[in-house]
Amino acid sequence: MISAVAPTRSRYGLPLDVRYCRRCTISNQRPSSTIEFRATAADRKETIHFSDDGLCDACRWFEMKVDIDWVERDRQLRDTCDQFRRTDGRYDVLVPGSGGKDSIYVAHLLKYRYGMHPLTVTWPPMLYTSAGRRNFDAWLASGFANYTLWPDRKVHRLLTQLAFRNLVHPFQPFIIGQRNVAPRIAAMMDIPFIMYGENQAEYGNKISENRRPKMDAAFFTQERDLHNTLLGGVSAHDILRDHKLQPNDLEAYLPIDPAVLERSPIEVHYMSYYVPWHPQEVYYYCVEQTDFLPNDTRTEGSYSKYSSIDDKIDWLHYYTTHAKFGIGRATYDTSQEIRNGDLTRDEGVRLVRRFDGEPPRKHLAAILDYLDMSESTFHDTIDAARPDHLWTTGSDGRWTLRQPIWAAA
Ligand SMILES: [Zn+2]
Repeated sequence: MISAVAPTRSRYGLPLDVRYCRRCTISNQRPSSTIEFRATAADRKETIHFSDDGLCDACRWFEMKVDIDWVERDRQLRDTCDQFRRTDGRYDVLVPGSGGKDSIYVAHLLKYRYGMHPLTVTWPPMLYTSAGRRNFDAWLASGFANYTLWPDRKVHRLLTQLAFRNLVHPFQPFIIGQRNVAPRIAAMMDIPFIMYGENQAEYGNKISENRRPKMDAAFFTQERDLHNTLLGGVSAHDILRDHKLQPNDLEAYLPIDPAVLERSPIEVHYMSYYVPWHPQEVYYYCVEQTDFLPNDTRTEGSYSKYSSIDDKIDWLHYYTTHAKFGIGRATYDTSQEIRNGDLTRDEGVRLVRRFDGEPPRKHLAAILDYLDMSESTFHDTIDAARPDHLWTTGSDGRWTLRQPIWAAA
């Protein structure tokens, strides 16, 4: 007799047994960063690792960070800057960003503390909020030139629609372009040094990734192959054929050919490797040093006013992560703030219960117009992405989490 082994992983490869970190609010459903141009709807995601005693890797990493010698890290950054600094009037470091607090902070530190000559580059939000646009201007007003690569809006809209329909991941074209823009412009302008802000591994990718100052080039390079480069889950080859586009229409979204980087070697570093990274402190720094301002109102789906406030698509991104993984924006915000000592876990759980998965209203009309979609199709698309092990509906048809953090032991 063949006995079936009960599966332990569900749709998207998520663990069937939902667990919450005992210190923060993150669950074991959190997916790690992926290489977007290979993502398909059938992907099995890697998820955050939990220790046997119930601590998530992000919290474990936070404990390990107390042993980091920040004076030594500062020395390493000074050495790296000395290696790349130019005295002939040319730019020597690229800082990518859209004018959020992280990119303002990094550019400001490099120029005013480390004596570098940064050029800032931007892959702009699809639908800039007024707060986002205002902070972008404040960034440049604090002493920076900027190259912005404006995408073909027709193509970008098409790719956003594909990514939403096929992957329920409307933010994907932004993420792809954002990872490509700096290396692409760095190669064009012969600037071999790029500095990002925070390494996403701080939030629970493999802990070992935090021990390196540099980004894995796999996130932005691949041999040119239109059949095996996916956008919105569809091959670039098929998109060109089906929508009668030319290869140059997709250029900004295609990973960079390794041959380009062989001719123009580039190092991509994270500032969070070199300086202690506390998002609230980064925010305070920006308010003190520049005209950066928080949002007038809290962000829908959370309680925060100062992070990820520049794109109207942003709240939709977190609304979809809440549907797919049970993790909304309030979970991401509180887990980080608990680790940094800005909130207690009890406060965090209450905020998650109150705000996570809040139905989006403010920008809904703009988003539906952008997606060219009716509101009912929009909700049907999101609801179809809810895994059975996370969600159930009552007799009133309302979706509720089966195992929310406030009901967990
Ligand atoms: Zn944790």
